[in-house]
Amino acid sequence: MQQRLPLYYHPIYTDGIHPAAPFPKERYQKVHSGLIQRHAPVEIRTPLPAPLEAIAAVHCPEYIHRFMNLSLTEKEVRRIGLRPWTPALVERTLMLTGGALNALEALLQEGHRVAANMAGGTHHAHRDFGAGYCIFNDIAICAKRAQSHFNIRQVLVVDLDVHQGDGTASIFANDNTVFTFSMHCDANFPFRKTTSDLDVGLPKGTTDGLYLETLHTHLGSLVHVQPDLVFFQAGVDPLQEDHLGRFNLSQEGLMERNKAVLDFARDLDIPCLVFMGGGYARPIEHTVEAFINLFTQCSTYA
Ligand SMILES: [Zn+2]
Repeated sequence: MQQRLPLYYHPIYTDGIHPAAPFPKERYQKVHSGLIQRHAPVEIRTPLPAPLEAIAAVHCPEYIHRFMNLSLTEKEVRRIGLRPWTPALVERTLMLTGGALNALEALLQEGHRVAANMAGGTHHAHRDFGAGYCIFNDIAICAKRAQSHFNIRQVLVVDLDVHQGDGTASIFANDNTVFTFSMHCDANFPFRKTTSDLDVGLPKGTTDGLYLETLHTHLGSLVHVQPDLVFFQAGVDPLQEDHLGRFNLSQEGLMERNKAVLDFARDLDIPCLVFMGGGYARPIEHTVEAFINLFTQCSTYA
């Protein structure tokens, strides 16, 4: 019998961001209600907050401490965004990171092929600072956890958000047990990129054809990494309607992209953990539609 996709969600994903913050926080709520309305075969689960020790396996203790105590500097907060800052961001960040860790546990303990968190993919967070809406790097935290608690040797990060996964790349720069692959828009944030194990920068205006051809070529080469686990940062900001993306992918193109990664993991017979990533379309409905498509696709592999 088909298993339902374990998909972690908490209302604080939306409510933990200040109402006046110019971040499309309602996307979480809208994706959640859209999946329910359409009877998508997902099992929505409530996460537990992440244990600090899991975060400390990646981030510098001083940075964690100052974030938890609301004592980041104005400059640090500006680099992260999500302003005006609110104490609820602490609980939100722990819950969002917990959602990723809980999805990892569901994936590795319950025999699913795919599990997901309806937030996160916070790939711009570095070891000792946050940036670009990212506070702690849930991808890195899950990679470390998979290796320390679940006997996973090699992790492959497939980061297809339109922005480069600079934080993840820097955290694992000297660690060959986590292979970082980022395919992104060259002329986009972060403008000073760090070096992933494989970076593929495509020009602005890239459309479905070039994008999918390039992706298939590189995914083919990644078989040699021999991963035990795939992490998919599935940001939908390559969408043509995205406000921050600069790519011109269609909804169908994004679905082909998702299928390519999910097929890759299935064909290698390895589990795949899906992180939500960015999405900033105007109106937000395009982003919501793309995420509903993503999680519905994931459910057919679960
Ligand atoms: Zn992005």
